[in-house]
Parts: sequence; C-alpha cells; structure tokens
Amino acid sequence: MTARHPQAGELESIETASRDEITALQLERLKWSLRHAYDNVPFHKKSFDEKGVHPDDLKTLADLAKFPFMTKIALRDNYPFGLFAVPREQVLRLHASSGTTGKSIVVGYTVQDLDNWANLMARSIRAAGGRKGDMVHNAYGYGMFTGGLGAHAGAERLGCTVVPMSGGQTEKQVAQILDFQPQIIMVTPSYSLVIAEEFERLGVKPEDISLKVGIFGAEPWGEGMRAEIERKLGVDAIDIYGLTEVMGPGVACECIESKDGPVIWEDHFYPEVINPETGEVVADGDDGELVFTSLTKQAFPVIRYRTRDLTRLLPPTSRAFRRMGKITGRSDDMLIVRGVNVFPTQIEEQILRDKRLSGNYQLVLTRDGHMDNLEVRCEIQRELSAGLSAGVSSEIAKELQHHIKTIVGVSTHVTVLHFEGIPRTLVGKAKRVIDERPKQN
Ligand code: ADP
Repeated sequence: MTARHPQAGELESIETASRDEITALQLERLKWSLRHAYDNVPFHKKSFDEKGVHPDDLKTLADLAKFPFMTKIALRDNYPFGLFAVPREQVLRLHASSGTTGKSIVVGYTVQDLDNWANLMARSIRAAGGRKGDMVHNAYGYGMFTGGLGAHAGAERLGCTVVPMSGGQTEKQVAQILDFQPQIIMVTPSYSLVIAEEFERLGVKPEDISLKVGIFGAEPWGEGMRAEIERKLGVDAIDIYGLTEVMGPGVACECIESKDGPVIWEDHFYPEVINPETGEVVADGDDGELVFTSLTKQAFPVIRYRTRDLTRLLPPTSRAFRRMGKITGRSDDMLIVRGVNVFPTQIEEQILRDKRLSGNYQLVLTRDGHMDNLEVRCEIQRELSAGLSAGVSSEIAKELQHHIKTIVGVSTHVTVLHFEGIPRTLVGKAKRVIDERPKQN
C-alpha cells in the first residue's frame, strides 16, 4: 500500500501539538537562533546594531518585526562563506542555488543541519502519502542544487528504496519506472509532464503506470497544472516548497488528505508575510512576501530572509502548523507589460483551462518602439497535433487571447504550436519567460 492518509501514532507529536505548545517552542528556538546569528556572524551583528536591536529584545514572537531583514544581497556580498555561523571545518556539506541571475550563492550544513533536513524531508514525503518500504524515483537534479540530495536523504530516512536517477535522459527515466515499479516520483512539475509525454509516446496508459504519488516543487505551478499532471500520470500530485537559502526542499509540504497548500514546518522555520513595499507584517490570510527565520539551523542561520515569493499564510488543517497558499509569483518575476502587472502563473492558469493545450508554454516579451508585446507560445496536446488545422489553431488562439485579456487584463498575441513546439527543460527549472526587451537604464 502507498499514498495513505496518516494513521494514529504515525505523526510526530509536534505535528498535532496545540498552538500554545508550538508558540512556546518557537519562542525558545527563536531566542537561540537570534543569539547564535548575532554572536557568530559579523553581518548579523552589524545589521542588528544598525537597527538598534539586540537578541535580548525578543520577548514575544511578534517582537521579531523589530529585527532587520536579510536579502539575497547579503548572500552575494558575503560569498562564499561569510555568513557561516560555525567554523568551516564543522560544515559537512555545501550547496549552491541555481544562480540563474548573477553569482551563485553558497550555503552550508553541519551534521545536525543535515540530520534535521533529512527528518523534515522524510516528514514531507510521509505527508504526501509515502511510507517506509515504498520506492521513490528521484528525478530532481543531483549536484550543487539542493533538490536531488535533499529528496534523496529524506526518502532514505523514511525507509524508502531510492532510485537516484537525477534529471534528464527521459527515455531511461521511463524505462526504469516501468522496470522497477516505484510508487513515488519526486521531480519538478514541468519535467513530470515531459516524463508523462514519454509514457504517452510508448502507449502506456496512466492506470498502467506504477506511480501513485508525485511530489513536485522548485518552481511555481497552479491547480490547472496539478489536474493535468494527475490525469497524465495517474498520481496524487503534491506540492513541496523550499529554497536553498532557508534549507532546500522540505521547508513546507502539502498533505495528501487535504491538498490545500504546503504545511510550513513551523517548528524549524518561523514564517512571516510582509507587504513587499513597506516591510510591515500583514495579517494571516493577507497576500504579501514570505519571510523566514530559521529556528534550528547551525551553519547558516537566516534571520527574516525575504524570499521574494508572493503568497499568504493559511490556518492549520491536516497538521497543527499553518499552511502557505500557492506561490502566485515572485516579486522579482513579475512582468510589467504596458503597465499591467502580470505573473506567468496567471497566464498558465488560462492556458490550462483549454484541455486541447499541453502544460508547456513560453512567454516572449519584445518591444516595438515604446510598446511592449507579449507573445504567448503554447502547444497542442500530442493526440490532436497531427490533425491540427489552421482553423482550429486560430480558434484556440482567439479564445485564449480573450481569456487572458478579460482575466489577467493584458493583450497578448497567442501562437499555437504543434506538440513539442516548445523546448523542454530536462534538468532544473523550466524557462517560461524570454524577455527580449532592451534593458532600461
Ligand atoms: P530549490 O532547490 O528548492 O529549487 P532554489 O533556491 O533553487 O531552491 O529555488 C527556490 C525558489 O524556487 C523559491 O524561492 C521559489 O521561488 C521556487 N519554488 C520552490 N518550490 C516551489 C513551489 N512548490 N511552488 C512555487 N515555487 C517554488
């Protein structure tokens, strides 16, 4: 059996604790973490001193709002090891972020940090419905990227059989899934669709694929994409969230019994949501930018780290911890097209309303004089591709253009391509946006 809802006694006691117990634990750990960062990292000491705060000023969780934020700039300025709070000799492993823009950033883990990470990933896989004895096909990239090794350690910790496949080599991925019959796949949502397409090509039906659960993260994906993946792979598609600076995957993960947004493992990461313009903390339920403070990390503590991810905090459901809503975008990924704020996920949602279109798409921005043009490239599902007529493709384009205009508020030019007209990303995050506009000075 796999993909089960948790039975009594299977959860850690903190996962069902009262709010008071959670708050008390957070406060105790937060005091430690602030003190640890202040005493051991010159950057934190300097930024606390400049703001006129001291770790002793934290009496309640709400007092955290008085402390300074930390952004990616601090990681770049202190590259490579300047933010480590322990001697480098105590750092057992390094990871780096994908670094799509600028210099990559480096983080480190002590033996205790790696142990916590493995436990939290194991907790995440269990929340997704995985159990000891299941087989996990891990198609997250191995290497400096946190995805592969993070998922690997968690699956082993839970007692699963891990297939350390990494990304790429799609035909081999599929052959191995067919041979080994894993129950769980861990992979980016965009690459899961590439794998699904290979199954389709081979004529393997979703109900004949052994997979029951997919744990997808590392990039934004909406409910439309969830439905598409579930239909094509025959799995429960679960959302996992994380980021290198805060740990890697497994900062939050959805529960299979509710599939209502990732549960933040609040005993290790204290979340706040702020207004990205003013920095003020907003109420739970309100939209804003997610900020994390690590509560237990030794090698690389983060204090009020601004993730740039836009979402909101939601009340507990399946676990005692709060959840986060779907990431609606990143404040630095927001496209401004002729003055309209557009997030790629909003367009994705509209594309996936049309069952004739696959989940692959690209947004291409160009400038004509002073006018921005947004081209939405999407592609037809495999089974409809051969018989695609110019009439059908212009009808699809017209409908999609209309939906995007009325719901997102921006005029676009839609191009409907044949199946596989959009290049696939085999390792790492899908490239959804191609911005060819000249840079503004
Ligand atoms: P990771 O190895 O976890 O992908 P990175 O540091 O490379 O770590 O990227 C982290 C970023 O990826 C997050 O800040 C967020 O923007 C995005 N991300 C990760 N998981 C999700 C998710 N489940 N949904 C939306 N975005 C996500």
